[in-house]
Amino acid sequence: MDRLTVVIAAHNEAEALPLLHPRIVSALRQLEGVDGHVLYVDDGSTDGTWEVLQRLARQDAKVSLLRLSRNFGKEAALTAGLDQVESGAAVVLDADGQDPPELIPEFVGRWREGYDNVHGTRIQREGEGWLKRSTAHLFYRVIGRLSKTPIPADTGDFRLLSPRALEGLRQLRERHRFMKGLFGWVGYRQIAIPYRREPRVAGDSHFGLWRLWNFALEGITSFSTAPLRVATYLGVTTALFAFVFGLWIVVKALLWGDAVAGWPTMMAVILFLGGMQLVALGMIGEYLGRLYDESKQRPLYLVDVWQPGAAGVSFGQSSVKGESHAHGTSVVGGQGP
Ligand code: UDP
Ligand code: MG
Repeated sequence: MDRLTVVIAAHNEAEALPLLHPRIVSALRQLEGVDGHVLYVDDGSTDGTWEVLQRLARQDAKVSLLRLSRNFGKEAALTAGLDQVESGAAVVLDADGQDPPELIPEFVGRWREGYDNVHGTRIQREGEGWLKRSTAHLFYRVIGRLSKTPIPADTGDFRLLSPRALEGLRQLRERHRFMKGLFGWVGYRQIAIPYRREPRVAGDSHFGLWRLWNFALEGITSFSTAPLRVATYLGVTTALFAFVFGLWIVVKALLWGDAVAGWPTMMAVILFLGGMQLVALGMIGEYLGRLYDESKQRPLYLVDVWQPGAAGVSFGQSSVKGESHAHGTSVVGGQGP
C-alpha cells in the first residue's frame, strides 16, 4: 500500500485547524490503496494551536505532531515536517484552508501516473487584495526571468512530492530556503493542476507587504546572481558616458575657453554616482549577508516535541544523514492515543 503524508506548517492557526482537519480526513478517506497520514508542524505558535493539535492527535491515530523550539518561519517548518516523512509521498498544504485538501485525490492520481511533483497553480486568488495579487504576479514573472532553475508561475507550496522528489529535496540543506525554487530545482516529472485559491477560513495572513518584499528578495538572491551583474553593467555604462562627457568638456574648453561654471552639473553627477555606488554596495551586501548565514552552518530548526501518531510507526529519523541535519536535537518522544 502506498503511503501518503500530508504535511502542514501552522503558526497561530488555532481557529483554522479544526475547520481544515475534517476536510483532510475526508479527502484521505476517498483514496483507495493509500495509507494516509497527517503531520502538523507547530511553528512556535503563541495562541492555542498546540492544544488544538493535541486534541486532533488524541482523536485520530494517524495524526503526528511536531513542535519547533520557536517560530522559525514557514519554510523551515515545512522542511522540518518533510524531514520526518520517511517513506511514501508527501502533500504540502497551508493550514488556513487556502489550499483545498479536496484536490488531494487528483494529486494522487497524477502521482500514480508517474509524476513526481504535482503542484497546484492558482488560476484565481480570492480574498486577497489587488496589491497582493498584482505584486505576486509581477514577482513570479521577474523570478521566472532571472532564475535558471525553472520556477512555475503562480504556484505556491501546495503540491505532492513523490518519494524520490522528497529524497532530492532533503539533500538541499541551505539556510535561506526559498521553497518554490528548491522544489523546482529537484526537477523530475512535473505537472500543474489549476485551482482557485480561496480566502482564509479564519485568522489573518502572516505575510504583509514588507514580509512579501523580503520574501521576494530571498527568492531572487537565492536563485539568481543577476543583480550582481546589473551593477557591472551600470558601471560600464556610466564609465562610457563619463568618457564621452569628459571629451566634450575638453573640446569645449579648447574651443571656447572655460569660465568655471557648472556647479549644478557637478553636484548632479556626484550625487548620481554616489547613489549608484551605494546601490551596488547594497546588492553585494545582500549576497554577502547570505553567505555569512550559510557559513555559520546552524541547523535549520530545532525540535521541541516530536509526537508520532500511533498508526504512524514507520516515521522516524530521515534517511539522509548530513552534518547539518537538525532534527532530533532535543526530541521528546510522545505517546499517541
Ligand atoms: N506559517 C508558518 N510559520 C510562519 C508563518 C506562516 O508556519 O512563521 C504558515 C501558516 O500557518 C500557514 C502558511 O504558513 O499555514 C501560510 O501562511 P499565510 O496564510 O499567513 O500566508 P499567505 O497565504 O497569506 O501567503
Ligand atoms: Mg494563507
